[in-house]
Amino acid sequence: MDLTRYSEARLPTAHGEFRIFVYRTGRPAGLGSTAVNGADEEHVALVMGEVAGDDVLARVHSSCFTGEVLGSHRCDCRAQLDAAMDRIAREGRGVLVYLVQEGRGIGLGNKVRAYALQDQGHDTVDANLQLGFDVDHRNYDLAAAILRDLGVHTVRLMTNNPAKVAGLEAAGVPVRQESHWVDASEHAADYLEAKKTKMGHIA
Ligand SMILES: [Zn+2]
Repeated sequence: MDLTRYSEARLPTAHGEFRIFVYRTGRPAGLGSTAVNGADEEHVALVMGEVAGDDVLARVHSSCFTGEVLGSHRCDCRAQLDAAMDRIAREGRGVLVYLVQEGRGIGLGNKVRAYALQDQGHDTVDANLQLGFDVDHRNYDLAAAILRDLGVHTVRLMTNNPAKVAGLEAAGVPVRQESHWVDASEHAADYLEAKKTKMGHIA
């Protein structure tokens, strides 16, 4: 894994003060990633407290331009992000790994194509498959490498996604799962239902 800690600084937020770490990869840019020097990707870790060690409260989160920046009600990404930062702040210790990969790795343009298919009656999983993508492209090796760089040994992972737990463990990070449901708008109800019934997310 070609991963470099590129920069870091204080980052005061509505949830308190974090440190932001930016990592760069030397791999070709994935679909939807922010291109850096033509080919590399940038990913982020938000850190609070001393996280070197065990049992660290953590979240691995994929970027969502429509939800987090535009406030879209088609998904619950922004609420999940806020809830994760809030939980870390209340505990005073934790890591949020923020992977810059839109639409679970398929890119913004394809995510919006998938939305168009959903408007025609397909659910989020069917829509991705119809566009020729697997259900989930997230890169757990990358998240594990970032956690290792920060000295994190084991995590309490805020997620409802068993595949995320398995993926991170396969990448070498022992995980204890903590459920992470948030109140979502009714627009996201179908999307969340598909996550439960088709992607094995735990209620
Ligand atoms: Zn989203």
